[in-house]
Amino acid sequence: MPAVLEIEGLRKTYKSRRRGERHALDGFDMRVDAGQVHGFLGPNGSGKTTTLRTLLGLIRADGGRMALLGKEVPAALPEVAGQVGAIVESPQFFPHFSARDTLSLLAGAGEVPRQRVDEVLELVGLRDRAGERVKTYSLGMKQRLAVASALLKNPKLLILDEPANGLDPGGIREMRTLMRDLAAAGMTVVLSSHILGEIQLICDSVTIISLGRRVAFGPVDEVLARYSGGSVRVRLE
Ligand code: ATP
Repeated sequence: MPAVLEIEGLRKTYKSRRRGERHALDGFDMRVDAGQVHGFLGPNGSGKTTTLRTLLGLIRADGGRMALLGKEVPAALPEVAGQVGAIVESPQFFPHFSARDTLSLLAGAGEVPRQRVDEVLELVGLRDRAGERVKTYSLGMKQRLAVASALLKNPKLLILDEPANGLDPGGIREMRTLMRDLAAAGMTVVLSSHILGEIQLICDSVTIISLGRRVAFGPVDEVLARYSGGSVRVRLE
């Protein structure tokens, strides 16, 4: 079966006059199979956001290949875009809008069926408070609203950059339940984090990145057992 997400030998160097060249990705590999909640773990500055932004066509790679849902990207992005939901920057919501109005606005005119707004609110556990203004929401509720916005088009693959960032343990547990429900419904989820404990709680499998290279991958428990046994060396925090 083709991977849902596949990256081989990805390279990206940022060049700036002030700081010179910075090799953000240095031959990075990653593979995610269908139906997993896959963690993308690495310390700040290791290249996670660069990988996700490159994959989504927001920045251009210097080399390597990438595929989403079995199609080469960026060439096939227009074809697969509707099947991939992604949040790679914290979305800014209008504080005075309700969650339902926010999603209705994002759903656009006619593109997404009206009932889908209520379906995604139900999925992320916000249906009961959908009429309340976003400014009254906790951080965890705002993060779940962000996930809801990425779910509007019923994607096969959901990519989330640091969705548990800043959440307390209760919020992380809610995020875990949500990710599990989405995977049970047949979705593949990729989420990045620099916090080992989050990945351990939420994910089935993991890729660890350090200095723009993959240093470990596989089932979470196996990889982390090897990590704590000392064979995977990466500074996580
Ligand atoms: P974080 O969790 O802090 O976002 P990250 O793992 O997502 O970290 P990236 O943001 O991809 O890492 O950054 C990888 C490297 O590339 C870092 O050294 C960073 O300073 C550098 N970098 C990222 N964006 C740029 C840019 N626009 N110009 C120059 N260097 C950049």
